[in-house]
Amino acid sequence: MKKIGVVGGGFTGTMTAVQLIGKSSHPFEIIIINDKETLNKGTAYNPYSEKHLLNVTAGKMSAYPDNPQHFLNWVIKRDNFVGTDITLLENSFLPRLLYGEYLCSIWEDAKKLAETKRIKITLIHSLVTDLDVSEDAVILSLDDKSKLIVDDCILATGNHIPRNPAIKNVNFYKSNNYFQNPWKIESVIHVNSKLPVLIIGNGLTMVDTIFGLLEQGFDGEIYAISPNGFNILPHRNNGLKYSKLNEELKDNMTIYELVKLVNKHIKSVRKYGLSAESVIDSLRIHTQKIWQTFSHLEKELFMSRLRHLWGVARHRIPLHSHDKIQQLRIDGKLHIKSGKIIDILESQDFITVEYFDKKKNEEKTINISRVINCTGPESNLTNLENSFLKNCLSKRILTQDHLNLGIDADPESFQIKNGEGKPHDHLYTIGSNLKGVLWESTAVNELRDQAERLSEKLKVTDSKVRSEVVV
Ligand SMILES: Cc1cc2nc3c(=O)[nH]c(=O)nc-3n(C[C@H](O)[C@H](O)[C@H](O)COP(=O)(O)OP(=O)(O)OC[C@H]3O[C@@H](n4cnc5c(N)ncnc54)[C@H](O)[C@@H]3O)c2cc1C
Repeated sequence: MKKIGVVGGGFTGTMTAVQLIGKSSHPFEIIIINDKETLNKGTAYNPYSEKHLLNVTAGKMSAYPDNPQHFLNWVIKRDNFVGTDITLLENSFLPRLLYGEYLCSIWEDAKKLAETKRIKITLIHSLVTDLDVSEDAVILSLDDKSKLIVDDCILATGNHIPRNPAIKNVNFYKSNNYFQNPWKIESVIHVNSKLPVLIIGNGLTMVDTIFGLLEQGFDGEIYAISPNGFNILPHRNNGLKYSKLNEELKDNMTIYELVKLVNKHIKSVRKYGLSAESVIDSLRIHTQKIWQTFSHLEKELFMSRLRHLWGVARHRIPLHSHDKIQQLRIDGKLHIKSGKIIDILESQDFITVEYFDKKKNEEKTINISRVINCTGPESNLTNLENSFLKNCLSKRILTQDHLNLGIDADPESFQIKNGEGKPHDHLYTIGSNLKGVLWESTAVNELRDQAERLSEKLKVTDSKVRSEVVV
C-alpha cells in the first residue's frame, strides 16, 4: 500500500491529510508525525488563553478554499453561537482556541471518511530527527531511533520558535527568566509585578503576551523593544473593497514603481478620510506573484527598507484589542521603544537590559524581572537548534532561498529542490517553509490553497504497492 508521510500536524499538515483523504479513491496509508500534543491545532490554534483572537475575521477563515462559508457554518451550530446574526459573526474576531476545535472536528470527519475508503491513518507522536532520500522513497529518522520509509513525504513543519537576538552575554539565554517560546503559558505565569517585564518585538505576539500577562494578574510595567517601535495598527476597514490599484498594476514592475503606485493610492484614499488598509489588502492577492518577479537586489531592498512597514500594515489587530493596548500606553503601563538590545545581565534581584534607544539616540538601561522573546518565528534554517532541516541543508538534500527565509522549492509543484537546484521526486513542502519563494505563505488563506493543490497532485487513484515499513 502506498505510504504518504506528513511531517507536522498543525493546520497545514492536517488540511493536506484531510484533502488527500477527500480526493483519493484508492486505499493508501497516511502517516502524520507530530512532535507535540498539538495535533491539528499546531502553534497558532492551541493558545493558552481564550483572549488570544484570530487576527482575521471569521468569514475569511474557512479551512477549505472552495467552501468559504465552512468555518461560519460550523461556528453557527455551536451552542454559544446558535441564533447569532451571521453577518456579525462573519466580521468578528473569534478565539483561536475555537478555531483549534474547528480543525479537530474537521479531522474527526476525515477519519470517518478514511475508514469508508479503507485509507489507513497512522499518527506518530515523535520528533523527526533526520531525513534521507533514495530514488523512490524518503527515509525519516525518529527520536526513538526508528526509521520510517514513505513513498512521498510532505514537510509541513510550520512555525519555529524565535531566534535569540545577538547580545554579548549569550549565557543569559540559559536563564529561567528568559522565555524563548512566547506561545507557552510558562512565559506569563508567576511574574513579579514589582519589576517591569521586557518583551522583545512589538507585533501580534506582543499583544497576545500582554493579554496573557494581564490575565495572570500581572499589573506592573511592560517594555517592548523592536527595531522601529512602530505602532501596531487596528483593523479599521469600513468594508471598502478597493480595486483602483489593481487596474494600474503591470507585470514586472520594479520595487520603486510599486512603492510609488501604492503611495499614490494610499494618498488618494486618505484624501477621503479613509484608512490605507483597503489599498494594502487589495495588493494581497498579487503579493506572491510580485515577490517572484523581484530580482535578488529588490528582495534585499524590501527586506532592509520595507519589511517592518509591510509587517505593520499587514498584521493588524481587532479594534477593541488595539484600544486596550493604547490605554495601557496612556496609563504608563506599556512603553514601546524603538531600538536595539545591546546586552542582558542577570543579578540576584533583577535583570539589567542595556539597549540603544533610537529615538533618543543614546544607550539606556532598564531593570526588569523577565524577558519574553516575541520576535516571531525563525525561518533561517541555519539558526535552528537541533533541527533535521538543518541536517538536510548540510547534506544538500535541500537548500535555502538566497535570503534564508525558508526552503527552496517549486511554488507550483511544491517539490523541494536539492543542493544542485534539482526538484526531488518524492519530497515536498508547503506553508511557512515557502516564505523565501512566495513571501506571503503563512496565513490560512494561503495554506488552505496550498494543501488543496498539493493533495490534488498526490491523491491516490490507483493501487501502487511499495515495500513495507522498515523499523
Ligand atoms: C501565534 C500565531 C497566531 C496566528 N494566528 C493566525 C490567524 O489568526 N489567522 C491566520 O490566518 N494565520 C495565523 N497564523 C499563521 C499560522 O502560521 C497559520 O495559520 C498556521 O497555523 C500554520 O500552520 P502550520 O501547520 O504550517 O504550522 P504549525 O502550526 O507551526 O504546525 C507545525 C507542526 O509541526 C510540528 N513539527 C515541526 N517540526 C517537527 C519535527 N521535526 N518532527 C515532528 N513534528 C514537527 C510542530 O510541533 C507543529 O505541531 C498565526 C501564527 C501564529 C504563530
